Amino acid sequence: MRFDTVIIGGGLAGLTAGISLQEAGQKVAIVSAGQNAMHFFSGNFEEIGTARERVSALFASAGVRTHSSDGWMLMPMGSMREVSLTLDDVAVFPDKHVAEKALIVNYTGFHDFYGTFLAEALEKNGTTCRIRFVRIPEMEHLRLSPSEMRSVNIARVMDEHWEKVVSDIRVLLKDEDLILLPQVFGLKDLSVLDKIRTAFPARVAFIGTMPPSVPGIRTQMLLKRRFEVLGGTFLMGDEVTSAAMHEGIVSSVTTRNLDTARLFADHFILATGGYFSKGLVSTPTLVNEPLFGLDIDYPEDRNAWYDPDFFADQPYLNFGVKTDESLRAVKDGVPLQNLYAIGSILGNTRKADYGSAAGLAIRTAFAVADTIKGGNV
Ligand SMILES: Cc1cc2nc3c(=O)[nH]c(=O)nc-3n(C[C@H](O)[C@H](O)[C@H](O)COP(=O)(O)OP(=O)(O)OC[C@H]3O[C@@H](n4cnc5c(N)ncnc54)[C@H](O)[C@@H]3O)c2cc1C
Repeated sequence: MRFDTVIIGGGLAGLTAGISLQEAGQKVAIVSAGQNAMHFFSGNFEEIGTARERVSALFASAGVRTHSSDGWMLMPMGSMREVSLTLDDVAVFPDKHVAEKALIVNYTGFHDFYGTFLAEALEKNGTTCRIRFVRIPEMEHLRLSPSEMRSVNIARVMDEHWEKVVSDIRVLLKDEDLILLPQVFGLKDLSVLDKIRTAFPARVAFIGTMPPSVPGIRTQMLLKRRFEVLGGTFLMGDEVTSAAMHEGIVSSVTTRNLDTARLFADHFILATGGYFSKGLVSTPTLVNEPLFGLDIDYPEDRNAWYDPDFFADQPYLNFGVKTDESLRAVKDGVPLQNLYAIGSILGNTRKADYGSAAGLAIRTAFAVADTIKGGNV
């Protein structure tokens, strides 16, 4: 099978690059092994920098709604984080005092939403809180096993039964000016969020739960769908297992599911993530990139890998694949001609140019897509 570009990894970086290239008329395949960081996403795109408008437009074309304004976001444990681009699910507050009175609503038996922590933190900032629980008959089967009572399973039920939640909250609501609800709505039907927001005289804020992240999974699904609508090939649940390289040029890769068939392309993009997604692998003595054996920027002395102060910036988060100015991956000291590295596999090696976190994923994806589109290779 021949493509213009093959992308290895279907997280935020791989999908952003894939959509950009498909939009430009390229024939692209994404091979995606499995779960990615979006499944744990807070809803806040950190360090997005100058890519804010461009990525908002790309997301809008995929049906992903974003909220682009500076302010504060309330995190699942009650801390506040400064934000500039978030998913529309996230309520952005102008300052840390979010309301005079808040009603925090949870589901009976749902342990992944921490109302008590939220209340404690909000009260420190001058908000009086009440916590109440609602019970939805259609969710009772989930309560039989604690492992079933997870955010995504609740979300599957909630797109149909949100009206019952609204009517229960109407009974509970007194004079609160803010209602806090777990982020378990709009997994498939985004309009549910607006319907809930407009159902009350108080402001509604959806607050993150413990993973999996419903907004993150929805975003991943919408981006994947956009890529496929544009004609892209998404090999879900498959994994690139080896690559053929000759004189600094990658010619093809094999995958676990395609057996002996190979994916040929002019360009390859490595978007396999950091330690979390096994794009980088660490042993007691080595940090390595398992697919191509690329050069990694890290010190040999293991004691320099981490700071014993748990809360310090950890050095190992800076380690990543070495690249040249155009993000071409370096192997044995030489940049490969048609293999680019994007996203969290870079660690913080290119932080000065592209930031970190989601900002790094998106900005490096755009940079490499532009290089490939421009024929600047
Ligand atoms: C748990 C967690 C939560 C985060 N939350 C946030 C947040 O809220 N906000 C923020 O700004 N940043 C967050 N980040 C930072 C995050 O790294 C970026 O936001 C971004 O999503 C990373 O995207 P990525 O595409 O580079 O990597 P990933 O999302 O890790 O995706 C890499 C993908 O490549 C696949 N893969 C790996 N090897 C292969 C192979 N051989 N073949 C095929 N596929 C392969 C993996 O299965 C995975 O699906 C978080 C990071 C983590 C680890």
